[in-house]
Amino acid sequence: MNIEVRHELGDEGPKDAARQHLINPSEEMAKLGRSDRPLFTHADGIYVWDDAGRKLIDGPGGMWCTQIGYARREIADAIRDQAMTLSYNSPWYFVNEPAAELARRIAELAPGDLNHVFFTTGGSSAVDSALRFMQFYNNVLGRANKKAIICRIDGYHGSTQLTAACSGRAWNRPNFDLASDQIAFISAPNTFRRPRGMSEAAFLNFLVEEFRSKVAELGPENVGAFLAEPLLASGGVIVPPKGYHQRILEICRQHDILYISDEVVTAFGRCGHWFASEDVFDIVPDIITFAKGVTSGYLPLGGLVISDAVLGRISGENAKGSFFTNGYTYSGHPVSCAAALANIDVISRDRILEHVRETAPYFQERIGSLRDLPLIGDTRGTGLLGCVECVTDPSSEQATKLDAEMALRVDRECYEAGLIVRPISNMCVLSPPLIITREEIDTIVGILGRSIEKVTNELRAEGRI
Ligand code: PMP
Repeated sequence: MNIEVRHELGDEGPKDAARQHLINPSEEMAKLGRSDRPLFTHADGIYVWDDAGRKLIDGPGGMWCTQIGYARREIADAIRDQAMTLSYNSPWYFVNEPAAELARRIAELAPGDLNHVFFTTGGSSAVDSALRFMQFYNNVLGRANKKAIICRIDGYHGSTQLTAACSGRAWNRPNFDLASDQIAFISAPNTFRRPRGMSEAAFLNFLVEEFRSKVAELGPENVGAFLAEPLLASGGVIVPPKGYHQRILEICRQHDILYISDEVVTAFGRCGHWFASEDVFDIVPDIITFAKGVTSGYLPLGGLVISDAVLGRISGENAKGSFFTNGYTYSGHPVSCAAALANIDVISRDRILEHVRETAPYFQERIGSLRDLPLIGDTRGTGLLGCVECVTDPSSEQATKLDAEMALRVDRECYEAGLIVRPISNMCVLSPPLIITREEIDTIVGILGRSIEKVTNELRAEGRI
C-alpha cells in the first residue's frame, strides 16, 4: 500500500508531496514548502513510528484523543462492517441505527438530566453548535439581547469563526479577525500565575467576583452563556481551585445564564470518568460538548448533550415553527457513530476508566517529581493529563521567550529519545493513551526528566541562565 502511494507521487515521496501541496494546521507561512514535520507511518498501542524508523511513545495521545490506543481490531471491524451496511444517510431527513444507539448510550453516561444529543463533526463544530443553540434558545424565548458569551483567557474552544473568538490563548489570535462584540473574557483560574502574595482561597474569591462583576457590567439580561473547559487543556492543563465551577454555576443559575462545559478533552475517560463535569468537578452543567475521545481518534465525531430542563423551555407549543437549522452533512455519521459505540464497548469491557483512576495518582506523583529540577516552575494535572512548566527566570510573572525556547528544546530531546511531548509555549504537556502502564509512565517521566536536565546544562553552558 505504501509502495503504491509512493509510486503515484513519483520519486519525491510523501514528504515532498506534503511540502508542495499540504497546508498543515498551525503552519508558519514562511515555512511553506520547507516544512520539516515528521511523517508518521504506522502506530500500535501507545506507540507510533516515523519515516526515519523511530518508535515513539505517544505522550500527548495524538491530540488528547487516542484513549484506547492504536490499531484496535474491534474498532477497525466496526468501521468496516458499518461502511458495508450503511455508509451514509442524510441526517436532515433520516435517522440511522448507530447514531440513535450512540445518543442513547451518551444520554445514559452523561450527568443529571443531560439526555439529548446533537452530533457534529468534531470539537470546534460541537462548541460552535452549542453557542448557536444558545442564540437560538434565547431567540425562541423572546430574549433577543441575551447573547453575550463569557469565556476565559487561555481557554481553547476551536477554529470556527465563533469558537476561535471565544478562545483566549494570545498566540492563536494574531492576523485573524475575530467576531468579538458578543464575547467577554475573565481570568484563567491559573493558581501558579495568581497575583503574587495572594492566597489560593483569596484567588478563588477573586475569580468568582470577577465573573460576578462581568455579568453585572454586561447586564445579566444580555448574558447568554458561560463557556468553560473543566480544566483548561490547551492553555496548559490549568486545573481550577476546588469549588470554582460550583460557585460560577450558582451565579449562572441566579441569572438564567447557560453553563456550557466544553468537555472535548475531558470526556470519555481522560479524568477516569465518562464525563468530568459532575464526577470530578461536582457540577451538572446545562450543556456539555464532547469530541476526541468519543472515537479514540479513529474517526471524526463530536457533539453536545443538552439537559431536559433547557430543552423543555423551548419545546412544545411555544416552539412551533422554530427549526434548529444548525447542522452538518455528517451529523450523526453512521460509520463514526459505529466507531464510537465500539470504542465505548472497549472502554467498558477493559475497565479503562477504573485503570485511569488507579493509575492517575502514580502519573501525577511521577510528573510532580520533576518539580525538583532547577528550571521547572510548576508541575500540575489531574487524571491522565499533566503539565511541566519551564521557568528560566523565577522573577518574571509571565513566561519568557527563553522559557518557550527551553520547552521546544526539551520537546526535541524527548523526540530523539523516543517520546513525543507537546510543547505549548513554555509548557510540556502530556495526555497519553489511557491504557498506559506504570512502567510506561516511568519511561515517559525518565525521558522527560533527562531531556530537561540536558537542556538545562546546555543553557548553562551557553551562559543563558
Ligand atoms: N474544545 C477544546 C477544549 C479543545 O481542546 C479543542 C481541540 N483541542 C476543541 C474544542 C476543538 O476541537 P477540534 O479540533 O476537534 O475541532
